[in-house]
Amino acid sequence: MKAYIVTIGDEILLGQILDTNSRFMANELAKMGAETVEMRSVGDAKAEILKALADGFSKADAVFVTGGLGPTKDDITKQALAEFFHTPLVRNDEVYHWLEEFFAENPTRLNVLNQTQAVLPQACVPLRNAKGTAPGMWFEQKGKVLVSLPGVPFETEYLFPAEVLPRLRKKFTDLGVHYHMVTVFGIPEAELALKLAEFEAALPDDLTLAYLPAAGYVRLRLTAKTEQASLTSQFERLLNALKPLSFQVGETENPWSYFAQILKKSGVTVACAESCTGGNIAREITSVSGASSYFVGGVVSYANDVKKNVLGVSAQDLDKYGAVSETVACQMAQGVRRLTGADWAVSTTGIAGPDGGSAEKPVGTVWIAVSGPEGTKARKFLFSRTRERNIGKATQTALTWLVEEILTVKNK
Ligand code: ATP
Ligand code: MG
Repeated sequence: MKAYIVTIGDEILLGQILDTNSRFMANELAKMGAETVEMRSVGDAKAEILKALADGFSKADAVFVTGGLGPTKDDITKQALAEFFHTPLVRNDEVYHWLEEFFAENPTRLNVLNQTQAVLPQACVPLRNAKGTAPGMWFEQKGKVLVSLPGVPFETEYLFPAEVLPRLRKKFTDLGVHYHMVTVFGIPEAELALKLAEFEAALPDDLTLAYLPAAGYVRLRLTAKTEQASLTSQFERLLNALKPLSFQVGETENPWSYFAQILKKSGVTVACAESCTGGNIAREITSVSGASSYFVGGVVSYANDVKKNVLGVSAQDLDKYGAVSETVACQMAQGVRRLTGADWAVSTTGIAGPDGGSAEKPVGTVWIAVSGPEGTKARKFLFSRTRERNIGKATQTALTWLVEEILTVKNK
């Protein structure tokens, strides 16, 4: 099934809001094996909406539209749909009844404006919206489908899986899962590609491998272009080709949540001492609920005085080796472990940039240390030139390495 997405709203074109509905729907569609061929955003203008719908129908089997369903004058999607399908706008009693139920606790809110939510193009099948007043609409024409949903992301994110996907599965029987994903940590994209060269060379033509790099990890997506493709067996081959790499997780939104599960199970406590990451490691760790069972705390020791006075880093070593050094990284990790009593600690000290680099220690140089029951180790990394990427990569690398070390000691 080929999909076409049209988002409607002047606010999108004015740059006032980010079109998250397209991303949400495309992702849901991809998960069920449908291919989105185009996304388009248009203003609240009937002529533009009609053009987009016609293009959508010419290029795809199903067109998904969001926005412009409100009862206010600027919302004209329903008029456009009625015109497109040559069908009148009529009051739908079933939808009116839904509205009565929606406002059951506060019937006066079912005012004249809200009552217009029950007026729909006659040709549509209304989709009940438990989260708002505008129902979704399902149209069929010549074997193709058009679905119209509200602009409010919270409502579309409810309606799409609840009311749209089951109908799509029934209508388009060829839909199945057509891809598998794996996340690989601790290896840059280019190195990973070299490692997988042989795997890719032997990949059948009806399968493709895509690299989706992010800070500190790379997601790999193996997609089948045809139903007969040997997706499962080739995915196993991919996992085998990746094998020596320590982390392979499924399709989680936040890879850190995968580490969090590992930490929870391992029963250890962790802490962090951060210089160049400025608290980002602690933020990442605490972004997962339940972090209190393994995370005890951290120190953001940006200034040398804090490294010395709080973490106990030696003044002499700071002078001799500089703050961005193996010795200081190790002492920071040991210091925060001592201070917090955590079983494990990770530290970062580096030059995030864009200023402050030198020939010897260019921007992007980061020392990371991990300290645990069996000692302390440090490694030097050279990430990138941009501050944001350096902070992101240092954070992900530090977390990955910390978890790797914990697992290594545990599995001994
Ligand atoms: P309402 O009944 O609230 O008027 P609607 O279906 O008419 O809903 P819009 O008026 O187009 O939808 O948008 C309502 C709100 O939803 C917008 O102010 C915007 O914040 C959000 N929104 C609309 N379209 C999108 C989109 N494509 N992605 C993310 N948010 C969106
Ligand atoms: Mg509106």
